[in-house]
Amino acid sequence: MTTWVYSFKEAAGKSKQLLGGKGAGLSEMTKIGLPVPPGFVITTKTCLTYLEKKDFPQGMWPQVLANLAKIEKATGKGFGNPKNPLLVSVRSGAVISMPGMMDTVLNLGLNQETLKGLAKKTNNERFAFDAYRRFIQMFANIVMGVPLEKFETFLESERRRLKIKDDTQFSAENLQKIITSYLSIYQEETGKNFPQDPKKQLKAAIKAVFDSWNNKRAIDYRNFNKIPHELGTAVSVQTMVFGNMGQSSGTGVAFTRNPATGEKKLYGEFLVNAQGEDVVAGIRTPKPIEELKKVWPKIFTNINQIAQNLEKHYRDTQDLEFTIEEGKLWLLQTRTGKRTAQAAVNIAYDMVKEKLIDQKEAILRIEPEQISRLLHTQIDPKAKLNIIAKGLAASPGAATGQVVFTADEAEEKGKAGKKVILVRPETSPDDVHGVLQSRGVLTARGGMTSHAAVVARGLGKPCVSGCEEITIDTKKGIFKTNKKTIKQGETITINGSTGEIIAGAVPMIEAKITSKMKSILAWADKIAKLSVWANADYPRDAKKAVSFGARGIGLCRTEHMFMEQERLPFVQEMILAKNEKERKAPLKKIGQFQKNDFMGIFKAMKEKPVIIRLIDPPLHEFLPQKEEIKKKINQAKNKKDKDRWQKMLTTLEKMAESNPMLGLRGCRLGILMPDIVRMQTRAIIEAALAINKKQKKPVKFKIMVPLVNNLEELKFVKKEVLLEAKKIFNRKGEKLHFEIGTMIELPRAALVADKIAKEAQFFSFGTNDLTQTTLGISRDDAEGKFLAYYQDLGIIKTSPFQTLDQEGVGQLINLAVKRGRKAKKDLSIGICGEHGGDPDSIAFCHLAGLNYVSCSPYRVPVARIAAAHAAINEKEA
Ligand code: ADP
Ligand code: MG
Ligand code: MG
Repeated sequence: MTTWVYSFKEAAGKSKQLLGGKGAGLSEMTKIGLPVPPGFVITTKTCLTYLEKKDFPQGMWPQVLANLAKIEKATGKGFGNPKNPLLVSVRSGAVISMPGMMDTVLNLGLNQETLKGLAKKTNNERFAFDAYRRFIQMFANIVMGVPLEKFETFLESERRRLKIKDDTQFSAENLQKIITSYLSIYQEETGKNFPQDPKKQLKAAIKAVFDSWNNKRAIDYRNFNKIPHELGTAVSVQTMVFGNMGQSSGTGVAFTRNPATGEKKLYGEFLVNAQGEDVVAGIRTPKPIEELKKVWPKIFTNINQIAQNLEKHYRDTQDLEFTIEEGKLWLLQTRTGKRTAQAAVNIAYDMVKEKLIDQKEAILRIEPEQISRLLHTQIDPKAKLNIIAKGLAASPGAATGQVVFTADEAEEKGKAGKKVILVRPETSPDDVHGVLQSRGVLTARGGMTSHAAVVARGLGKPCVSGCEEITIDTKKGIFKTNKKTIKQGETITINGSTGEIIAGAVPMIEAKITSKMKSILAWADKIAKLSVWANADYPRDAKKAVSFGARGIGLCRTEHMFMEQERLPFVQEMILAKNEKERKAPLKKIGQFQKNDFMGIFKAMKEKPVIIRLIDPPLHEFLPQKEEIKKKINQAKNKKDKDRWQKMLTTLEKMAESNPMLGLRGCRLGILMPDIVRMQTRAIIEAALAINKKQKKPVKFKIMVPLVNNLEELKFVKKEVLLEAKKIFNRKGEKLHFEIGTMIELPRAALVADKIAKEAQFFSFGTNDLTQTTLGISRDDAEGKFLAYYQDLGIIKTSPFQTLDQEGVGQLINLAVKRGRKAKKDLSIGICGEHGGDPDSIAFCHLAGLNYVSCSPYRVPVARIAAAHAAINEKEA
């Protein structure tokens, strides 16, 4: 018979896959003797079966009842027993933590009878009513789908009528009346009476929590975080303990280290006389945990001790939920603490120094994408700021954007490419789709552990929470601070590292790499097999790349230099020229520009390798649009001008291609106009000779031929390059070593890689063109039009232009590597193009046996971590 249900005691040692993170944590804590209220876990497998059959699997319910009996025995209470009632929580908990995305019902087991019993037993009528009120509201919302508003609006009117600020001020009598009204709201909304049979309550709650796996916010969250939809949630049913029993009770959350900075110090928040959901829901703003020291010093020491033990046990930062019931401490959850990128790096480094983990593990603890966040912008400290309010610094980094007041609007505008800041009284998990599309989040209420804060930190977006000086009027579309009124659509900046709200946009600066991060990146380089190079077209990019640890330049696109204002006229003159003779003068000019650029790049790279690609794009890209030329013809003031524009139009028309991407470009251009190849060769070699005079080790450069289809093309261009090089060497009486290689970016080139390898000294996969030509999809035409739709439909999982299509394009790469190296054993092979900075694609490149990946300078640190991950994961697999 299948075991669908495990008590916390029995469950210890079972997999997290089966128990969910929460169930596993509760079982583990039970095992190591921490004070955990007794309970049991219904497995994720049960959930999957339930979701498929729309009903509990056979045999599950009796197991639930048997485990309930065990709790009754352990606590001495009875489920539905009016004299000494057992109340439970029904909690969701997925394998991968999805904080707040699914549902939990508290205080289950209450009805008119047990309510009286609870009041009498605890000698606390007010508390019992408070618990029942919460239960009705949660059950109605989660199980029956009644909007929370129905209750909240009523409660708010009661607060106003009774002039109450905080729910703890409601008297027993107040609450009793509220309950009566709640019960009739329930009746009106559902057409049913509130269920009185605790077993029926339990059955319905378990189903609802299973179903919450597929609620909108959970699906949004999984889509964004690439969490599979097939995992299901486990359900934990657990004896209730009460933080809302008065002034000697409370509840809170604690991180074993600071989740924003990584500092090794207990960090968290708590509320006196409150139930757990009050802290996370952000309804009341909680107190920092240090104050616990003053209120309940013994408990503070106790939590600290437990925090340290748990950290040693799990060898990682933990995020704990605790409740204090009349002076007794209970633990309700432990999980790996989510942290900011900065904290992740600091904690990983510190834990290596504390000998809790080794370097490999430290690297695995850092998500490559987290590194990219650390390289993101901060507010320039020299900037003059018009600070209009201050809240809690809930998630670091800064962002500027237009104010929007609803998640839907944030989603709509964000998707349309607008920069928005979502401003809310408090965010609920239902706002997640809006948070995803915002640059940052500002909330008026809620603490550092409110949902807004947790979600934003997870996403690496700035968040300021608990900014109580602002009042928001969603209807009017404004928010007010003590200093200023901001309208919807106005621009503000939030600084999630300081909590400041600033009117307007402000100058930002880029973050720099800290010494701890440098150490970890250096550990990563030792482990990685792939080396990481950068794509850089300008000396400034090359400098940035070196500062981020690039070991070379894998792609220098010379034509970007053609586009600049002062150069473009010469490039256009070159294009308009009818023959080599007419091209001579403009080419000479362009050659001088190129030489200077190459000198700058070589200088920045010292003796690190630089791969320069010969001209690649179709020439019409350097001419203005047809319409614009026509306008110029009409506006021309003299004949000479008019003739020039007319000539340009004729040339453009002659050059028109139906598929420029597949037309006259790449090496084809160089073959038709070899004088361009010769000019570029001269510029490169003369630059290298000039720099060589200034440094000890010679410049290491390689010339790369783009868009080669067959060996003869490569031979042709190579001959031109070598002849020109020889001429220069003869003239100068100097010599230089350099290599000539090719891009592999057409399927045919990959197929005949063995032949091409005979003439190529290196290969570099141009995976952008290779993807386009293998898939027959033009990126620019596809991304805006059908690729996103394909993703929605599930036809493709990710864009093949972001993550390499391993199944298709990957085969060509593997084949080309094999054939290329068969012809030339030590052939150096790399990849350039955006895939070179994508962690999944990097893992593939590692397995394919490439020598390097080349990506944009900002992705270099990300790629260094990803390359180390790939090496570690291969070993472990
Ligand atoms: P989430 O995953 O959204 O944090 P939880 O299942 O952890 O949901 O529960 C929500 C809140 O209710 C938490 O603050 C938790 O500590 C509290 N809670 C859950 N079960 C109990 C219980 N048995 N006794 C007291 N508080 C509980
Ligand atoms: Mg929780
Ligand atoms: Mg290309």
